[in-house]
Amino acid sequence: MPQPTVATMDKIVSLCKRRGFIFPASEIYGGIANTYDYGHYGVLLKNNVVAEWWKAMIQERDDIVALDSAIIQHPRTWEASGHLAGFTDPLVDCRTCKMRFRADHLGELQCGKRPSKHPGEDAACDLTEAREFNLMFETTIGPVKDAGSTVFLRPETAQGIFLDFKQVLQFARRKPPFGIAQVGKSFRNEITPGNFIFRTLEFEQMEMEYFVPPAEALNWYEHWLHERFEWYVRLGIERNRLRLRAHDPDELSHYSSGTSDVEYLFPIGWSELEGIANRGDFDLTQHAKHSGERLEYHDTQTGERYVPHVIEPAAGVGRSVLAFLCDAYDEDEIGGEKRTVLRLHPALAPVKVAVLPLLRKDGQPELARHVYEALRRRMKAEYDDGGAIGRRYRRQDEIGTPFAVTIDHQSLEDRTVTVRDRDTLQQERVAIDALAGHLQARLDPVAV
Ligand code: ATP
Repeated sequence: MPQPTVATMDKIVSLCKRRGFIFPASEIYGGIANTYDYGHYGVLLKNNVVAEWWKAMIQERDDIVALDSAIIQHPRTWEASGHLAGFTDPLVDCRTCKMRFRADHLGELQCGKRPSKHPGEDAACDLTEAREFNLMFETTIGPVKDAGSTVFLRPETAQGIFLDFKQVLQFARRKPPFGIAQVGKSFRNEITPGNFIFRTLEFEQMEMEYFVPPAEALNWYEHWLHERFEWYVRLGIERNRLRLRAHDPDELSHYSSGTSDVEYLFPIGWSELEGIANRGDFDLTQHAKHSGERLEYHDTQTGERYVPHVIEPAAGVGRSVLAFLCDAYDEDEIGGEKRTVLRLHPALAPVKVAVLPLLRKDGQPELARHVYEALRRRMKAEYDDGGAIGRRYRRQDEIGTPFAVTIDHQSLEDRTVTVRDRDTLQQERVAIDALAGHLQARLDPVAV
């Protein structure tokens, strides 16, 4: 049986706050419903996750192009996509505790009065019948709020891709199979958000729509299941804490003829990290019908015409960040002292190297700054001369910095430094002139 890491959600939340990765938004006003801000290291980590996704989609392939579409689209988009009618969750109210719950998640939720029980389990619980609640956030365009001015914040980035299908086909001169990838914010008025950044009201998605000839859909679906699963493994997630779970027929979204989730063994149990769906020709057909545009592929050489089928891997940035944090979190002991360490993959680590003068005298800080300034042109580096060396190592371990370079009295004599490895704790002496190359080779052996 795979085990979750030693991380608990409380430990992750507290580390994120302590080190300024992620913390509640609007805190000076008491916070706002499951909304979080990313601080310095959080932004660096999140950017690295997104960069690795783009790398896998764009840099390492030549069949996918990038897009950045608008958050507010024409309201008819959501009519055509089925979101207006069907993007709902079943909601129940409890007349006793006055709390609201997602009817299909009762088994994971706590009763408002007796948290050891699930809603509906206690004799005092008095739940209403479930009613459908649309998750889209509504707003208006222009100064007057009338029926024609209602628009929606997108609940997924995918629809912007379908609206631009024709543009991309023409301007990027593509032919199926090809994909359009996009990263951006989405918004869902979730009934029961929670578990830190696992489920929030606004969140970033990394979505790619892969357009294929209909007969090839099943093969490409299998291809993307494999690719996306292995992406997490390549970035350091323990293989046995990941699994693929195919949706049961009654779980499938209105558009899907097959969906599997990549699930991760979070501290809250196995939960969805990413969904990979075989959307068929649902979206292009719907938008063609509602817009009157022909959304199909026409091969001018063979005369062939068809509406491509779509395979969609859809991942959440925040959920991935949470999974990477949970998986990297570890506690060990050095010389009888407890240490918290994030064993993040070097590509994801917010800072790649810390440069630390052993003492704040004898020319050590000056040489350390010189080394730091040379390194920071090549990789994200941090200079720190505040406090005992052990404390400074601990600080870097907690934010997942793979290497610490220490400048000591010997460095001034022979221009060598020590390089400390976050995971093995081994220290190696390296010449300053060879330092950048040495670190780069260890951070990314493939690139050198
Ligand atoms: P769930 O079943 O958890 O509500 P979903 O199946 O509705 O998720 P999708 O519509 O498939 O999610 O969205 C793709 C990905 O976007 C999810 O796998 C998840 O990583 C992310 N995601 C969706 N909703 C949220 C949310 N409210 N907060 C954070 N991430 C989210």
